[in-house]
Amino acid sequence: MIVDAHCHAGTGDGLTGPWDTAAPLSTYLRRADAAGIDRTVVFAPLTSDYPRANAEVARLVHGSRGRLTGFAFVSPTADRGHVAEMVHQAVDGWGFRGLKVHWRDGHITREIADVARARALPVIYDPAGDTGTVETVARAYPDVAWIIPHLSSFADDWKAQTAFVDQLVRLPNVFGDTSGVRYFDVLEDAARRAGPGKVIFGTDGPFLHPAVELTKVLALGLDPPARALVLGGNITRLMRGVRRDSHRPVPAAIP
Ligand SMILES: [Zn+2]
Repeated sequence: MIVDAHCHAGTGDGLTGPWDTAAPLSTYLRRADAAGIDRTVVFAPLTSDYPRANAEVARLVHGSRGRLTGFAFVSPTADRGHVAEMVHQAVDGWGFRGLKVHWRDGHITREIADVARARALPVIYDPAGDTGTVETVARAYPDVAWIIPHLSSFADDWKAQTAFVDQLVRLPNVFGDTSGVRYFDVLEDAARRAGPGKVIFGTDGPFLHPAVELTKVLALGLDPPARALVLGGNITRLMRGVRRDSHRPVPAAIP
């Protein structure tokens, strides 16, 4: 079972680039199917309105018959004061299994980390190379699983990625995703030094080609048990412990 743990889906309301405009899945799914990817974790592209974008993701997940798993995108600034309610809707209503937070929306907050802790939700946090923040949140919330995409930098910041690998080795609750990483030696270093239990396959689809991203992971030459962890075992384990709240009225299944 190969799981892509990082893919965007639906629409944003910006016009800066694909990352905040549109993330259509049809081409991605054709490519992913051909590459042998069985399941995909999806979340919205960047937007100013995550409640709307998350609902759009919920409809895609619902219509996918198990092919897609949703993560709720939350903004540290725009959604301030509403994170618990958004998570209630997403996790209890739609069956979402994690959170996504991006540096462009603001610095990660205790509000988000507290909700993640209470619900045992893994958090994909893009820090734009700010490994100091990774250190701070991982230590302050050692019981939350922090998944850092692109080994911390989509922008190929080699210094940040190299520093991040040391954190991956030291901090048991920090994981790195492989999406968009170009410095292959750093990726190899992460898998070798931190171990396959700390590295998670992701593609950053539909913006990047899933077969290209998968080929990078296969090129690591891991033995089959290690490869199975990277390609799905790790993310599946992190999503398994999510706590749903059965004591509160559950919102309608699909908006
Ligand atoms: Zn992404």
